[in-house]
Order: sequence, then structure tokens, then C-alpha cells
Amino acid sequence: MSSSASPPDRPTILASLRDYVEQLREEGLEGLPASAQTAAPASAIAAASAASSTSRARAAVYAAGPRGTSITSDVASASASPASPAAERAVPATASGSPTPAPADLFYLYPALERTNDLPALREFIGECTRCKLAPLRTNLVFGAGNPHAELMFVGEAPGADEDARGEPFVGRAGQLLTDIIERGMGLTRAEVYICNVIKCRPPENRNPEPDEVAACEPFLLRQIDLVRPRAIVGLGSFAVQALLKLKTPISKLRGNWHEVRGIKMMPTFHPAYLLRNPSEKRAVWADIQEVMRLLGRPIPNRGAQR
Ligand code: URA
Repeated sequence: MSSSASPPDRPTILASLRDYVEQLREEGLEGLPASAQTAAPASAIAAASAASSTSRARAAVYAAGPRGTSITSDVASASASPASPAAERAVPATASGSPTPAPADLFYLYPALERTNDLPALREFIGECTRCKLAPLRTNLVFGAGNPHAELMFVGEAPGADEDARGEPFVGRAGQLLTDIIERGMGLTRAEVYICNVIKCRPPENRNPEPDEVAACEPFLLRQIDLVRPRAIVGLGSFAVQALLKLKTPISKLRGNWHEVRGIKMMPTFHPAYLLRNPSEKRAVWADIQEVMRLLGRPIPNRGAQR
């Protein structure tokens, strides 16, 4: 190595640090504190992720999922030009030596996620999470609730004050409306479906989650989707839908049409909190819900949530 070589930049150092910590975890070294076995240095990871276009590309890969269709052109550049040792390891070589696209890389931030084979194991993995700056502000981490084998999954944005206080998703005013949609509109119960959010801790003053918070938390949502493996997902509101699809398209343009997330059909619709402010949009939500019921082959109750 030449003595005039410039020192590695910050994202490269952070990526190497992350790899080293994950390697220690993967090897299950005795003597590491339990917290170090489950908690990634999220601030470092998020900083690296935000700073590195390769990391962004990898995020796009894992969001697309095993059969995902929302792979963006970023993926091609991620496969073609890994910029760090970590990226190289994520791109296995074929027998001829030419790189093949990595399989859906859900585990790139937290490799040990792969060993979470059910929701309780995933919850345990998340632990008393300190991976982002929301941790010290929360009362309860809101993991998700409902049937672990649900045919239908709802994904919202983030817990609000009521959810933070109770540790359960959608239990405030918006949650009551979602419950009405599920029970009166769909003829199901909350216990039959699975409900969760993109991020698991309440942002202060219910502000939108920030990119580093989403980066740290999103792998858990994607793992929840893989583990529940519902037949359909309803994406609630622009934030959740845009996070799931890696798009910035307004919800008004996305709703009403099927999309795919990790190989699962996803119907975007308006968030119940938006419906509380704009009750005339209930009609649109009812149309979206009817589409979902049709896909599931379920009877559509006569009196829907449009009231
Ligand atoms: N809004 C959300 O997006 N999620 C909740 O759990 C509650 C309100």
C-alpha cells in the first residue's frame, strides 16, 4: 500500500465497524454483553446508510424482497459496483467468477435477524431497542399485534401517544376507526388480522419519522412481513406506503391499485387519521377494502365502513 493513500472515509469506516460487530455477533463470541449481541450501533449504521449510495442501493434490494417487483435501477448499480468489502460479500460470485445479484438482502443491517424464525423471536431480537434516537423518548416499543399467521396485515406509520402509552398499535382515535373498518367494514376481528407500523417507537409530537429512524427500524417490519406471510397487506397512509414502495408518489395516486412488497400484494389506502379529518374519503377507502376482500375471496358485508 502506498504511504500517500488517503485514509478511508467515514462511511467506509462505519461500514467496516458494522461488519466487525456483526461478525462478532454471528460467531456468538462468549463474553459479549447480551445487549451487544442484539443491538447494532444504529446511529453509526444509519449514518453510514445515509451517507453511502451503496447502502441505499442495498436498502432498495431488500425492500424489493424475494419476489419483489419494486426493484429500482439502484439495484443494478449495487450489484455491479460494490464500494466496500461489505458490498462485495453481499454479491456472491458464480462458478465462472462473475457476480450474480445477491439474494434479497434483508439481513444486511442485522445479519442475526435471519435466525428469528417467528414473531416472538423477532420481538426478542429487537429487545429494549436503542438503535435510533427515538429510544429514550418512548414509553413502550409498539411491535405489532394480532394473528401471527394472518391472511391480512395492516401497516401504519408509527405509534402515537395512545399506542406509546399502551404498547399496542392503533388504539387511539385513528385506531378506533381502523377497528371499525376491520370489524364493521370487513366482518373480521382485530385478532384475525395483523397490525403493525413502519417504525416501532413514537416520534416526538407525532412528527413524521426521519430517514435514520426508518433505516434502523424498517428491517424489522420487513421481517414481520416475511414471518407473517399474509396474502395481502393494506398500507395505511402516504408515509407507510411510500416507505414500503420506496416511492415518493402521493397516496392519492397510489391508492386503489395493487402493488407488491416482498412478493405480497399490497393495497395502499388513506390513513384512518386522514379519514378523521376528511370523512368524505371513506368512500375511496371502502372501495380499496372491497378490492382486498375480493382478493382474499371473502364475502363483502353489505354495510361497509363508508358510513
Ligand atoms: N397511527 C399509526 O400510523 N399507527 C398507529 O399505531 C397509530 C396511529
